[in-house]
Order: sequence, then structure tokens, then C-alpha cells
Amino acid sequence: MKGLILCVCQGTCPSFQKMNVFEILNHFRREKKVDFVALHPQLCATDGDNFWRALLKNGNDIEKLFVAGCDPVMQKKMFGWTFKELGFDEQKFIGIEIRNMTTEEVIKVIDEAMSVDTQEG
Ligand code: SF4
Repeated sequence: MKGLILCVCQGTCPSFQKMNVFEILNHFRREKKVDFVALHPQLCATDGDNFWRALLKNGNDIEKLFVAGCDPVMQKKMFGWTFKELGFDEQKFIGIEIRNMTTEEVIKVIDEAMSVDTQEG
């Protein structure tokens, strides 16, 4: 299964005000580019770790996990240890920067990340 998760700094940060998160998620649902989508307000908070624990308990079922939010390097630093704890292969994780973008721009960068992934097989 492939999943897309949007993380939006509680929804109050100015960096996420130009986009409609539901329109973005619905786009990828409609296009059937992923098998599931989710919106999380703050994955880097403590309950974000619980979200990963609940989602990745059966991480082997997950083939790719696209996480659109802040800088991917930051994401890796914040989530890496939880992935390790859960034995989730970090190669399956693809972080995507979407801050300060419009709905259309976000759809484009996520689409690009997904097509690079498809090309790489
Ligand atoms: S993980 Fe990144 S996008 Fe999500 S709340 Fe934390 S800083 Fe914001």
C-alpha cells in the first residue's frame, strides 16, 4: 500500500494558509495515486509518535509513505528514530516540502515526487 500524509503545523502556521488541504488529499484519492490519505496537525509532537506507532505497527504492508509538510531533512530527523524503533524501512519514506505553496503547487510537487518514485521503481 502507498499512503500520503499531510502535516500542517497545527493548521495555524502562515506557511500553510495558501493551500486547501482537503482539496489536495481529494485530488490524490480521486486519481487513485495512493491507497490511503491522512491529515495530521503536528506529527513532530509526542502524539505524532503515537500516530506512527499505530500506523506502522504493520509497516511491512506499506510500500511507500509520502509525507508532505516541512523540510524533508527535518522530517527525517524528527521521525527517523520512531521509524527505527518500529523497524520501518526509511527507504519507504519520502518527505516532501510544501510550505508556502498554493493548492496547485502542492499537488504538483507531490505528483512529481510520486512520479520520480515510479520511475525509480
Ligand atoms: S512535522 Fe513539520 S510540518 Fe509537521 S508540525 Fe512538525 S514542523 Fe510542522
